[in-house]
Amino acid sequence: MNLLQQRINKEKAKATLDNNNYDALNLSPEISALLKAKDAIISLQQKQLDALEDEPFNFQQMLLLPGEISTYKSRNDVDLHVSFSFAHSEKQASFIPVVASNMDTIGTLAMADVLRQKEMFTCLHKFHETKKLTQYFSSLKANDPKAFEYFAISTGISDQDYRRTEYIMEKNPELQYICVDVANGYMEALDKFVKKVRKRFPETTIFVGNVVDAKRTKDLIEIGADAVKVGIGPGSVCTTRQEAGVGALQGSAIVDCAYGVHELGYGHIISDGGCTNAGNISQACACGADMIMLGGLLSGHKECFEGEPKIKIDSYGKEWVEFYGMSSYKAMQNHYKDCEKRMEYRGSEGRAILVEYKGPVINTVNALLGGMRSAITYTGVSGLRDLRKAEYQILHDGNNGLNLSLATKSPLFEMNVHQCTR
Ligand code: 5GP
Repeated sequence: MNLLQQRINKEKAKATLDNNNYDALNLSPEISALLKAKDAIISLQQKQLDALEDEPFNFQQMLLLPGEISTYKSRNDVDLHVSFSFAHSEKQASFIPVVASNMDTIGTLAMADVLRQKEMFTCLHKFHETKKLTQYFSSLKANDPKAFEYFAISTGISDQDYRRTEYIMEKNPELQYICVDVANGYMEALDKFVKKVRKRFPETTIFVGNVVDAKRTKDLIEIGADAVKVGIGPGSVCTTRQEAGVGALQGSAIVDCAYGVHELGYGHIISDGGCTNAGNISQACACGADMIMLGGLLSGHKECFEGEPKIKIDSYGKEWVEFYGMSSYKAMQNHYKDCEKRMEYRGSEGRAILVEYKGPVINTVNALLGGMRSAITYTGVSGLRDLRKAEYQILHDGNNGLNLSLATKSPLFEMNVHQCTR
């Protein structure tokens, strides 16, 4: 066991002894137990933060440790639902907190249809035509009103984005979630937008991102976010780390932001980016994520495309389809008439790659959920939210934080980069 791990384990053991003495306050046993549990989590996270201050890490460097004896007889018995109580909207929810990203090939209507069957969540991308969205929502209203519990509409922070969001929300009062998404969550303009949307839609649950530190997480929650998205640079088709030299390793970023949330006493965090296998989802939970947003892991499926996927077949007969970042030249070309002008001042912080075509997403989803159940039984915790109590070790020989694992899977990658990026 390495020194760092020894420190974490020691601190974890100590944390359970650090509870305040609430007994003197004459509280009911339930309240007292709740306060003690909360203290234990905060204290534990503080200790972990102290221990990890000089050792930032990402999922590739983490391993969850088997520990407690599991009481589950079979993985099949593990329920992956998590209950949420959203502080601003005052709404309660329960779903499997794996969230399809609002990328235009991931947050599709077809993806939402499949994930909803599994009670998982989708952030619909913001490039759907409003007419098409409204038609889709009308069909859901007639067939499956519960459907609105499993998706958010997404928006940027321009005036045009606001008008579009307001229009869609007014036409479809059943909508329960809005995801406010900007690559850089450290902007005054984001605060203004969040305050405006919160004021206009007080009962709507709002996700806001992306950030990577406790203070900014707390700020966004205080001004109106029910959940904050965490992640700058970890995405499979993100090149921010190369283009701007900016980012934070995802594991430590989640630990930090989760600590902020618990310090505040309300709010949730969504880990966004960096999951390249099912195990990373459980690792994100162990770091303290309440929900986990996926892009690359859901890419390359039938549901990613409107109509038939454009499949490319390589010389071995393998099938590949395109997947690209939302800041890539490819995405700009698809969605913005003034693409060339935009590229003059902002550059491309995303790449376009080919990923293996995998057919219907349901098989992948089942595999991901299977992996999560497995993590729960190995670590002996009771459920996904409890994974944050699981112990883990940090490996020192992980990669350098540039997440190329999806891209490098493709033998056509080099050629493809050349073809698909500017
Ligand atoms: P993945 O699950 O593929 O690792 O990460 C998905 C996340 O990457 C998205 O939810 C989004 O936050 C981020 N992302 C998507 N496209 C781009 C891009 O072009 N540039 C950057 N910097 N991030 C992106």
